[in-house]
Order: sequence, then C-alpha cells, then structure tokens
Amino acid sequence: MIIDRQFRDKIGGMVTGKVLFDEPMSMHTSMGVGGKSDVLIFPDTVRELKRLVSFFLREEVPFLPVGNCTNLIVRDGGYRGVLISLEALRRLEIRGQNLPRKFTLKEKYAGSVCVYAQAGVSLSGIVEFSIRESLSGMEFCAGIPGSVGGGLKMNAGAWEEELKDVVKSVSILDTGAKTREIKRKDLPFEYRNLDLPEGTIITGADFHLIRGSRNEIQGKVSDIIAARREKHPLAYRSAGSVFKNPPGCPAGKMIEEAGLKGLRVGDAEISGKHGNFIVNMGNAKAGDVITIINTVQKKILSERGILLETELKIIGNEL
Ligand SMILES: Cc1cc2nc3c(=O)[nH]c(=O)nc-3n(C[C@H](O)[C@H](O)[C@H](O)COP(=O)(O)OP(=O)(O)OC[C@H]3O[C@@H](n4cnc5c(N)ncnc54)[C@H](O)[C@@H]3O)c2cc1C
Repeated sequence: MIIDRQFRDKIGGMVTGKVLFDEPMSMHTSMGVGGKSDVLIFPDTVRELKRLVSFFLREEVPFLPVGNCTNLIVRDGGYRGVLISLEALRRLEIRGQNLPRKFTLKEKYAGSVCVYAQAGVSLSGIVEFSIRESLSGMEFCAGIPGSVGGGLKMNAGAWEEELKDVVKSVSILDTGAKTREIKRKDLPFEYRNLDLPEGTIITGADFHLIRGSRNEIQGKVSDIIAARREKHPLAYRSAGSVFKNPPGCPAGKMIEEAGLKGLRVGDAEISGKHGNFIVNMGNAKAGDVITIINTVQKKILSERGILLETELKIIGNEL
C-alpha cells in the first residue's frame, strides 16, 4: 500500500475525527509496546466508518478494527495498513424494557432492560452506567479495561461470566461494508472469541440487564475491584492474561509450577504476582514480550504436552 499525499488527503477528507500517520502503537496499547501503524484513524460515526471501509475494500487496503488495545500488541516492525479505532462511537442508552402490554408499576421496575452501547463505550463505562441506573448483569466486567467492540470480539469474561451471557444482539458492519444486526442465537461465541468472518466490525450491541438494588450492584462491583487489586499486578502495564486457560488447569498456575515467574527479557517480565501476566517494567519492546511467550509455550509443551494458546492478539510485522 502506498501512503502518499493523495491517499492521506483522500482518507483525511472522509472523516471528521482524528487521522494519525506513522503512529507509534506503544502510545495506545495498554502494555505500552509496539511499532508504528501506517494509519490510525478515528471515525466519528458509523456512516464515516462505512464510507472508509467501502473505500478500503475497493482499494484493497488492509485494515483492522481496534478498541482500547488492552488485549493487543503490534510487533516492533509496525502494522502496514489502517487501524480503525472506534473510540469515538460512544452512545450508551436504555432502549426499552421488555414488558408485557399491560404491566403494574412493580413489574415495570422488576423487568429486564435493554441497554444499547456503541463499540467505543468502555466496559467500565457500562458498569458505571448500570450502577447509576440500578441495573444488574454487567458487574463481572468491573476492572476489565476493554471496549464494547473489543470485549465482544474477545467474549471478555471473569468470575465465570462472559459477555455472551448478557448480550441480546450485536450490530456489525459486515465484510461487504453493510450494516446488519445479529441476534444472540446466531452469534458464534466461544471461549475468549466471537467467531465472526475476518473483516467484520462490531459497531454496537444491545445488552439484556435486570433491574436490581443499586447498593447490591455497587457492593458486588467494589468486591470485584478489590479482588482484582489483590490478584493482578495492576501497578505495571500489561495486556491482562496472556494465555487462554486450557481445560483443567489455569495457565498462570502451570507457568508458576514451571518456575517461570519472574522470567525477564529486556524490560518485559512474567509477573511475580500472577503467572499469566507479562508486565512492562519500563521500556519493553513487543519482541521482548513475544520472546517470553515463545519460551513459555516451549517449556509447557515439553513438560506437560500442552500448547498454551495466546489470548493476547499479536499483529503486524517483525523488525
Ligand atoms: C489489567 C487487565 C485486566 C484484564 N482482565 C481481563 C479479564 O478479566 N477478562 C477478559 O476477558 N479480558 C481481560 N483483559 C483483556 C482485555 O481487556 C479484554 O480482552 C478486552 O475485551 C479487550 O478489549 P479492547 O477494546 O481493548 O480490544 P483490543 O485489544 O483493542 O482488540 C482485541 C481484539 O478485538 C478486535 N476488535 C477490537 N474492536 C473490535 C470491533 N469493534 N469489531 C471487531 N473486532 C474488534 C481487535 O482487532 C483485536 O483482535 C484485561 C486486560 C488488562 C490490561
């Protein structure tokens, strides 16, 4: 792809939001590592997003949606193409209550409530919203730093709950740049994945929440945040759990039992607090993190015959 003046002017004219060229992704990933993306663009509306994607498809420009980049690293050689951040799509509202045609006041306040959130809304934003509105169902997302779009793509979860349990439908831009809504029953959720065709962009979702007691919801959220502070190395930059948990034994426990806690390459280190976190102790490079990942995979494979699969997404080119 040639990023010449004409290309820059063309895509710059398609959005009202920011367009960054040669943007160091270390400035955007939660782990603080990664090379430059040719372009990082922030459409302000779904209409702008649609226009952009239609253009990229026509011109065969590689592109990839990103959320808060909390489960993503870009290799040190950077990403050749356009990363599309949906950060500006932030609508969050109550859409309606699923009530029978005739209902009592008691039923009105006991009913299930549909909350619509655009892809750029942060999961913590929905958690705060649901506390304010006394809605229960999203508490498990407290402390997960992703966005609605990235969260759904990853089927983010904790405490034995996942986004698949609360989602009603997902709005997407399909691989032909057409807007569509997919109902829950047709969404192929898996453990830490929503298996949509490559190139699909999630633009928003309806969630099914239940009216509850604000104090109870707030209490549950506070307990979760406290438990996370205790278990996770939150003082350092990371991308959360690096590996998926294979059935039977958590990846962090296997890493700990293999004596790998504290393993350091450059400024990247396996956290002494939690074996499934790699933390950036200063100026880590994506290459340092990937070297640790490869070392862990080799050791666990040779000792246990299990290949740990990464939960973390790694994109871009090597240096
Ligand atoms: C401290 C910490 C704690 C964490 N704890 C948890 C946890 O408890 N549970 C958990 O599940 N995760 C956890 N994570 C990981 C991460 O926050 C989640 O996976 C989150 O859902 C990723 O969202 P994101 O917006 O950052 O996505 P990104 O990292 O930006 O992207 C992740 C993937 O989703 C794709 N994607 C992003 N947006 C879209 C979109 N709109 N449409 C289609 N595809 C898209 C990207 O291309 C990429 O493949 C944690 C991370 C950190 C740093």
